[in-house]
Parts: sequence; C-alpha cells; structure tokens
Amino acid sequence: MFYKLNNKAIKNSLSEQVQEISAQNVFDCYQCGNCSSGCPVVDYMDISPNQVMRLAQFGAIQEILDSETIWICSTCLQCSSRCPKGIDVSKVMEAFRAINLRKRFSKVEPNKTQIQNIKETPPILLVSAMRKMTG
Ligand code: SF4
Ligand code: SF4
Repeated sequence: MFYKLNNKAIKNSLSEQVQEISAQNVFDCYQCGNCSSGCPVVDYMDISPNQVMRLAQFGAIQEILDSETIWICSTCLQCSSRCPKGIDVSKVMEAFRAINLRKRFSKVEPNKTQIQNIKETPPILLVSAMRKMTG
C-alpha cells in the first residue's frame, strides 16, 4: 500500500491520539532499524517496530491498530533502550493497544486461556499480557 506524505495524510485525530497517549514524537524516527533488530519477538510480528513508526508517520494508524504486532509486543523495552533518537517505542506500542482497549477491543483474553497453558507460560509473559489490559 502506498501512502503519500503530506500534511493531510499525517494529521488525523488517531495519529494525534497516539502521540498524546505515548508522549512520543513519531516524526523523530529516521528508520535506522535498531528497534526491530533488537526486538526478541519481531519474527512473530506482521509489522516490525520500525515499520510501525513509519506507518505512524504517514498517518496509517488503522493499519497498525488492526495488526498482530501491537499484541505480540511483550513490552520488554529493548527497542526503547536501543533507539538513538530516544524514542520510547514500547510506549508507542502501548498507545496503540490503549486505543483499541478503550474501544473494548482486545486480543488478550486471560479468562479464556486454558489453565494448562497458563501453568506453562513464563511468568514474565503473563505479566506482559496483563499489562496489555491496562489501557
Ligand atoms: S517492547 Fe515490544 S516492540 Fe519493543 S523490543 Fe520489546 S517486544 Fe519488541
Ligand atoms: S530505533 Fe528509533 S530511530 Fe531507529 S527505526 Fe526504531 S524508532 Fe526509528
């Protein structure tokens, strides 16, 4: 999909919401890819973290809201610690989750998870999943 970079495309209410919730300026990103290369779960994502930043710059917010990526992100903060521009990428991911959660849409449903799966899941992963419900 092609997005033309212009003010109209960039400035929409959802992109402003993302920046307001995350307190991060996605336009600071210059696509070095450090966030994606350090992300431990990037192979499971449909949009890599640097692509999320790029799409956000182009105002293509709905594509990100519909992605698996924002739910797969484990909030490990690796991307944030590696960004040379000081962008807290994990906060941007959290902002997208928050927008969905405020519309009562979530892909994380612990009450529907088999107890055996919970027993076999690493505690850090469970904590991360619960964090995704705080939007
Ligand atoms: S916080 Fe999310 S996007 Fe960032 S490195 Fe960790 S899993 Fe990847
Ligand atoms: S590490 Fe920072 S500057 Fe580099 S692609 Fe990721 S968000 Fe953009």
